[in-house]
Formats: sequence, structure tokens, C-alpha cells
Amino acid sequence: MILNKYLRPEVFPTPFCPGCGHGILLQAVLRAIDELSLDINKMVFVSGIGCAAWIPSPHFAADTLHTTHGRPIAFATGIKLFNPSLKVVVISGDGDISAIGGNHLIHAARRNLEITVICANNSIYGMTGGQVGPTTPMRAKTATTPQGNPEPSFDLCGLVRGAGASCIARATVHHTRELIKYIKKAFTHQGFSFIDVISPCFTQFGRRNKEISGASPAEMILNLKKLCVHVKSSDELFTFKQNDKILIGEFVK
Ligand code: SF4
Repeated sequence: MILNKYLRPEVFPTPFCPGCGHGILLQAVLRAIDELSLDINKMVFVSGIGCAAWIPSPHFAADTLHTTHGRPIAFATGIKLFNPSLKVVVISGDGDISAIGGNHLIHAARRNLEITVICANNSIYGMTGGQVGPTTPMRAKTATTPQGNPEPSFDLCGLVRGAGASCIARATVHHTRELIKYIKKAFTHQGFSFIDVISPCFTQFGRRNKEISGASPAEMILNLKKLCVHVKSSDELFTFKQNDKILIGEFVK
């Protein structure tokens, strides 16, 4: 397979649950690298803790830094400042990037630091047991909100837009062509780029919320087609929560 040259064969199969969106995201990142003919030896992938952190580490045959919970953007900042010629990419989960590491996210966006942050957003803390997170939709059931989440969720694209990010997009693992296109744009952007990737977790989110997600992992991914609305202008970002739809597209370019 064309992407095998970017992978460490000894670590397969992946630890992801059957139907997890992270395997699709893994492939989309590598496809973007291949289509741009980037030299993976001049890239560094940084992740924190959680299922999404396993996407680059240990799977990519590249320099990877698997850091502490919530801190990948802080480590990425250090790498970029030490050697600006490297392409530095953070791939981690929504709990890692927007909750524990939320402060690093807003300040990297404010500084317009030239790194790419790819947030694998599964709306929950997956690896640690399915606890509610800042990206969990209101009313969704989790291990710690069995009666439903009483709080509104965070719109990560709106957050980084407010902080000053200069390249922002949202895609899902169902919309793979667009996902690869946005990753390619992020990799060639001179400034801070952020992609919110909706990547379903049936194990921790879907099985507790079958009325939203569907009865199986496959249905959960297929349902993304019905739940998503393509953006027509960046101002629509702030209507994201309306009618429980997910707004996807490029918000700032
Ligand atoms: S717990 Fe969820 S996010 Fe983690 S590997 Fe399983 S399906 Fe994927």
C-alpha cells in the first residue's frame, strides 16, 4: 500500500476499537503528506495522552513526541522555536487539547505560531473511561453524567478564531476528501492552523447515546452525513449549535 512507507509495521494492528474514527484520521494525515510530497523526516508529530495520541505515536515512522496530558502544544512550541525549519504537527484528542491543555491552545492561536493542531474530537474522554468533557454535547450521557450533560459544549473553531488563529476548518472522518484537503491547507499555511476533526467513539459515547449515534459504530459514522451542514461563510460558525447540527468547512483561510 502506498502509505506503508510512513508506518511502523511492527506496531500494527492499531489499539483502536473496531469502528473508531481515529484510524480514518491516521490515514487522512498520511495521505495529505503523500499528496504534498512532504519529507516526513522534516516533520515532528506531538501528542498528549488519550486514544488520539496513539495516531502518530507509535504508528508513524517519523519523529514523534508522546507527551504528558494536555501539554502537546507546549512541547510543540518549544520544538518550533528551537528549530523553525521543522514542520511541527500536534495530533491529540479534544480532552487533551481543549480541556487540560486549553490554555496552551488559545495562546498558540493568539501568537499565530506556525504549527498545525489536529484535534481528534470524539466529544468525550475516551481512553480514561467516558467522562464528560468540554466538547460533550448538552444532554448527552456519559460515565459521569448518566442523566445527560447539563452544560453547553465548547465550539473549538470559535475558540481559536476568537484567539486569533489564521487557518481554521472542521471536517469529519465521514467526509474524508474534505478532511484531506483541509489537512493539506493546514500543512502549507504560514501561521497557526487548526482542524477540528469529528471522529466518533462508539465504545464510550455511541453506546450510551444510541438515539443520536445509531445502533453500531458503522451507523455512527454514517450518521455524520445527516448531522453535518456545510459552511457558507465564516460568520455561520456561531450558529453551530443551532438545530443540533455540526457545521463543517473552512472558517478562516
Ligand atoms: S475508546 Fe473510543 S476513541 Fe478510544 S479507541 Fe475506542 S472507540 Fe476510539
